[in-house]
Amino acid sequence: MDTNHPIFNDSINAQKAVDNLKIALNEPNKTFPPIYQQYRDLIKQAWLSANGVFNGQPFLANTEVTKTRIAICNACEFFKKKSKRCTKCGCFMNQKVHLALAKCPIGKWQ
Ligand code: SF4
Repeated sequence: MDTNHPIFNDSINAQKAVDNLKIALNEPNKTFPPIYQQYRDLIKQAWLSANGVFNGQPFLANTEVTKTRIAICNACEFFKKKSKRCTKCGCFMNQKVHLALAKCPIGKWQ
């Protein structure tokens, strides 16, 4: 296991996660898809990742893929830079880009 992978740095930075959550909670909900859609997409992503792992695919994307994805998001008109959320799916992109089988909801990256 590559413990230098960025997700380990992100996940142990609890204060950063709390700060992002505070920013997200202050954003107007109408900016994002309906909450049921966000839960549906989250469950779908969890199922895809779990199914992928059972079929021998990696759970985490490598660092190069992760950096490419977040660069695309940073340049995207649907990305909220302050909270790092996508207004198309409502996902927290700092976490989602690390999942090997995650996809951009409008096909900008896979
Ligand atoms: S996931 Fe896709 S739509 Fe969302 S911010 Fe990133 S590039 Fe844009």
